[in-house]
Amino acid sequence: MKTNIVLLVLLLATAVLQGCYAQNNNKQRHMDSTNNKKNEVYSRTDSSKVVLSNDEWKKILSPEVYTVAREKGTERPYTSKYENSKEIGTYYCAVCGNALFKSDTKFESGCGWPSFYEPISKGSIIYAPDNSYGMERTEVMCGRCKSHLGHVFEDGPPPTGLRYCINGVVLDFAKAQEAEKKYKEGQ
Ligand SMILES: [Zn+2]
Repeated sequence: MKTNIVLLVLLLATAVLQGCYAQNNNKQRHMDSTNNKKNEVYSRTDSSKVVLSNDEWKKILSPEVYTVAREKGTERPYTSKYENSKEIGTYYCAVCGNALFKSDTKFESGCGWPSFYEPISKGSIIYAPDNSYGMERTEVMCGRCKSHLGHVFEDGPPPTGLRYCINGVVLDFAKAQEAEKKYKEGQ
């Protein structure tokens, strides 16, 4: 009888321990899939080109960013927090930190994606013809890491008449510094 009780206690203890172990395992797995992956190429000051294989990109980008940036995917329209944002600052490439657009060239296009009429500098963006889906479009990519950003169309407002239609998921926004704002106001 006593042996039976001891056995029962042992069995219960094993079950509890196994339960804990399994739980810890789940936690670990969960953390692995959602943790912040280290992106060592991201820099807002280093302008040297970034060339990585898609296998390498996959390791450092979130699945959402990877799909748009490296597989030329398109985020669902009207889903970007930047679409209607009017904050003053600079939009960077979320993949590599390259400065892409200034907020004062942003306009409401109503197309469902953040839209700009001019990039921050000539070299900040590179262009390529895109004839996919039976359309003739011009793809725009980051000038530093060649990630897909979106497309440019010729139905934008003055002064350029261009509309850079950009996936918000590959944009990173930084508010303008107070000093920069004052400088602009003084101009
Ligand atoms: Zn980039």
